[in-house]
Amino acid sequence: MNAPDLSVIVPVFNEEAVVPEFARVLVETLTPTGLTFETIFVNDGSSDGTAQRLESLRRGDARMKVIEFSRNFGHQSAMTAGLRAAKGRACVIMDADLQDPPALLVTMVEKWREGYDVVYAVRRSREGNGLQKVTAALFYRTLRALAGVDIPPDTGDFRLMARRVVDVLNAFPERNRFLRGLVSWIGFRQIGVSFDRPPRAAGETKFSMWKMVRFALDGLTAFSRVPLRLVTMAGVMAFLASGGVLAWALWVRLFTDRSVQGWTSLIAIILLLGGAQLLALGVIGEYIAHIFDEAKDRPTYIIRRFWGNEKDS
Ligand code: UDP
Ligand code: MG
Repeated sequence: MNAPDLSVIVPVFNEEAVVPEFARVLVETLTPTGLTFETIFVNDGSSDGTAQRLESLRRGDARMKVIEFSRNFGHQSAMTAGLRAAKGRACVIMDADLQDPPALLVTMVEKWREGYDVVYAVRRSREGNGLQKVTAALFYRTLRALAGVDIPPDTGDFRLMARRVVDVLNAFPERNRFLRGLVSWIGFRQIGVSFDRPPRAAGETKFSMWKMVRFALDGLTAFSRVPLRLVTMAGVMAFLASGGVLAWALWVRLFTDRSVQGWTSLIAIILLLGGAQLLALGVIGEYIAHIFDEAKDRPTYIIRRFWGNEKDS
């Protein structure tokens, strides 16, 4: 069994506009390095011409494998499927839209050869508008402060992982796969290499605002119990405070002859506590949702078709 040096895993969702160009640049970049490699495209339920593009590319390149999902299962699931199918001594995950420049692979491989187990790409400059930059920065800072695992800021999923790291990841049973968090959590020798992230080569971003919010919530609650603990603390404080207020109200009622006003403060307290309770229920619900997902034990994705070598069936 001769494993290739490198497996390049590429999740694609409606990327007909960029896939052929990406595949061309990738092969052009890797060929001169003399590395043996395979590419694994995971078609995450595309509804455009992506499948046909992949099919014709695969006919011209035996090193290419294609995993077709039965529907859109999301970026994290696509990466997971790719990692499970990969045979390489190192695996790289990258986007198909050329925002993760294939040229950086050369540097990543160098670092791997120096003995690093994980080489992650750090974005020196971030594309996107001001709001995206601020929310992304905020998310990474929060995650870092709350999660207890040190997820390097300004990194995406573009990274190289040595075989032993991939084996550890593949053995993880959890369904909520916040991959960049898991990789940081695993440890080993990790290093970052920085690059300037170019804009998308063609097409639109496949992440809606809603998808990003869900992703952020999943990541945060998968790696941190702090939100739950904050809810508990807020509850304790509210309980103590209401005890104090109750004592005060009783004292006013029993020992003074001040008239009953207080309607405004009553409404304010009801609204505040009601809001806090709903928020608390929401946070707890997030965690219960995770427990629910894990307990169902349903697969993370369903493969409709796998085109690989005869050997891997
Ligand atoms: N992607 C995917 N499934 C999805 C959404 C995105 O496989 O549900 C792929 C997409 O085709 C691309 C990569 O994930 O190769 C990153 O997506 P995109 O470039 O749209 O994200 P952005 O760079 O805007 O954060
Ligand atoms: Mg992109």
